[in-house]
Amino acid sequence: MHTSETSVRRGHWKERTMDLSRKTVFITGIGSGIGEATARVFAGYGANVTGFDLNGESAQRVAAELLDAGHNAVCTQGDVRNEVSVAQAFDDAVGRFGQVDFAINNAGIEGALCSFPQTQTEDFDEVISVNLRGVFLCMKHQLAHMETSSSGVIVNIASIMGLIGSPQIVQYAAAKHGVVGMTKSAAAEYAAQGIRINAVCPGAVKTPLVQNVLDTTPEVLAPLIDNIPARRMAEPSEVGELCAWLCSDKAAYMNGAALPLDGAYVAV
Ligand code: NAD
Repeated sequence: MHTSETSVRRGHWKERTMDLSRKTVFITGIGSGIGEATARVFAGYGANVTGFDLNGESAQRVAAELLDAGHNAVCTQGDVRNEVSVAQAFDDAVGRFGQVDFAINNAGIEGALCSFPQTQTEDFDEVISVNLRGVFLCMKHQLAHMETSSSGVIVNIASIMGLIGSPQIVQYAAAKHGVVGMTKSAAAEYAAQGIRINAVCPGAVKTPLVQNVLDTTPEVLAPLIDNIPARRMAEPSEVGELCAWLCSDKAAYMNGAALPLDGAYVAV
């Protein structure tokens, strides 16, 4: 007998489906890389897609392509460093779709990767402002909205640099460890209210961000890429698929986790 049938008879198991239609996802940094691919994955599962990017043109291009493909999408210009911009974009999304069910806090920058003493304080502040404070601002407004319906799922895009350290990447690792800490803390605070918050921690993903690091400071990233046990980088859509699963009812008991998606890099 199939395991699930056994469980059904014992009354422990109920089928959960991966249907995101009639749901709305809000994605930051939607105009490129992981954000763009995640928008396409959610649209493919039937969700309304909304979000913003610092680069308004690329956000609008993504929306136009999704609309052309028959999906429902509205993307605008916005800046995660600016609380007014974050609040406005989120309020607009709620006004447009009635409710935002899922939020993917993805916007991020890599900063200049160099030795600890060479790290410019201004660059440290900028990376923290986008990658950590930006996620905080987004979560603040998303949680206030989700509280009103006692439902919702947030996925923060951290990094394996939120789980481990590496040379010459201090501000990025500090910000991503902070994102993992905020994720766990918020999950503990909101679990009883039916709101789930998890972090995805990708290794190297084929996006413009990684290409930029390879072009400017290959000595930082090349050893990491050479040592991926899976012997390849991730596709951006593979991050999107994990986000979609985390948002679905299939992951109803998944909360407060920081999941590596790294071809076994941190397992070694
Ligand atoms: P990307 O550069 O392709 O896309 C990032 C997007 O964020 C861009 O469209 C950019 O305009 C936008 N953005 C930057 N600053 C912003 C701001 N202040 N407000 C709003 N939008 C802003 O990069 P990506 O590789 O897709 O990275 C997405 C996320 O994934 C980042 O948080 C990054 O740290 C994380 N990540 C990436 C990798 C990787 O290997 N690519 C690995 C681990 C984690």
